[in-house]
Amino acid sequence: LGGSIARALSRMSNATVVDEKVLADCLNEICRALLQADVRFETVRDVKANIKRVVNLDALAAGTNKRRIIQQAVVDEIRRMLDPGKPSFTPSKGKPNLVMFVGLQGSGKTTTCTKYADYHRRKGFNPALVCADTFRAGAFDQLKQNATKAKIPFYGSYTESDPVKIAVEGVDMFRKEKCDLIIVDTSGRHKQEAALFEEMRQVSEATKPDLVIFVMDGSIGQAAFDQAQAFKQSASVGAVIVTKMDGHAKGGGALSAVAATKSPVIFIGTGEHILDFEVFEVNPFVSRLLGMGDLSGLVNKIHEVIMPNNQPPNIIGPQLVEGTFTLRLLYEMFQTLQSMGPLGQVVSMIPGFSAQFIEKGNEKEGQAKIKRYMTMMDSMTDAELDGTNPKLMNQSRINRIARGSGRLVEEVVHMLEEYKRIAKMWKKLPLPTNNRRLNTNRD
Ligand code: GDP
Ligand code: MG
Repeated sequence: LGGSIARALSRMSNATVVDEKVLADCLNEICRALLQADVRFETVRDVKANIKRVVNLDALAAGTNKRRIIQQAVVDEIRRMLDPGKPSFTPSKGKPNLVMFVGLQGSGKTTTCTKYADYHRRKGFNPALVCADTFRAGAFDQLKQNATKAKIPFYGSYTESDPVKIAVEGVDMFRKEKCDLIIVDTSGRHKQEAALFEEMRQVSEATKPDLVIFVMDGSIGQAAFDQAQAFKQSASVGAVIVTKMDGHAKGGGALSAVAATKSPVIFIGTGEHILDFEVFEVNPFVSRLLGMGDLSGLVNKIHEVIMPNNQPPNIIGPQLVEGTFTLRLLYEMFQTLQSMGPLGQVVSMIPGFSAQFIEKGNEKEGQAKIKRYMTMMDSMTDAELDGTNPKLMNQSRINRIARGSGRLVEEVVHMLEEYKRIAKMWKKLPLPTNNRRLNTNRD
């Protein structure tokens, strides 16, 4: 996705004359990429029209960096679409806050309920869970198990089949117990779809929640709008949570959910564990949607973990000022990564490192791989690491590195290929240093 947008923008930058056609081609490419990221057709059409309106052809023709102008317009447009214009209800302490979760079966409601409860408990709330899913066999057991593990009080029934009755009983009970955040989990499937929405309406009417949260799977794609709209019509949805953002999904469906419910995204789910839950932030989300890699998230993370004295992290290194991503820079990144503890989340935010580099759930192997790579790099000369001469790395040097590090020749070759792949990716990133280079050389 990012690749094709980057290609489109680069074609545009290379064009000597920027006319209607070049701009139209570029916009088409961007639209194709957005559709691939599950952004709804109508939304893509609007993005296109709005960009066309704000991007001035004359400014582009004279401008120093066309790429940046268009990219900024796309980013601004998507940010705007993620902003419904009003914040959602947020629970406040000392009040009996009631939150109801809705969404299709499998979207992640039950899992997310517990995450949401746990998140707020860490903020000082006293949460409780109510299982009003009487349709799915084992629904109560699942909630019970999650809640017990997280030590959160829960309510439900194995015998009662009326979800409204359970919801009301549970809410009453926890109100009496002075819980200040009562969370009602609901069913996501019925024999008849209409019956599901009717049930949501009844539970919502009987309990009068302060907030209804629509939970959606980040990969549902084009179906997101209708789904969100249907739930909005039965219970008045006021916020969205997008789950399974740890997978391949780009989450473009979130734009549709925001449009259909006129509510903001408040959290994202990034795994099955209770702590895989993050406050929604628009910048990383947009850069992920556009395939730009989440640099700001990475930098923040590094700040949190290893920069207590507020020194700027050296993850982007001095070499990149010249716009080259050297092996030495990669080595320095590895060093930083190694000092950061669990790799999974961090690594997935570095452009070029995602999925291919370290498989999810296989972080031990990832650590070992980084260590192997660093051992091989330790056998390189300064000139090789700094890449001052691109033709330098010949077979005899590769053999020497393999011997010196006690690794196989194939491993060195593979490491160099990986390096090239990552370096190529970094070259395309919208880094200020890359742009400076483009300004002088291309535009
Ligand atoms: P419900 O039917 O809406 O209540 O959905 P569940 O909470 O039962 O979740 C369905 C499946 O998705 C379960 O296997 C969860 O572990 C999984 N799941 C939920 N949220 C996430 C997430 O953020 N990431 C991943 N990878 N899996 C998730
Ligand atoms: Mg459930």
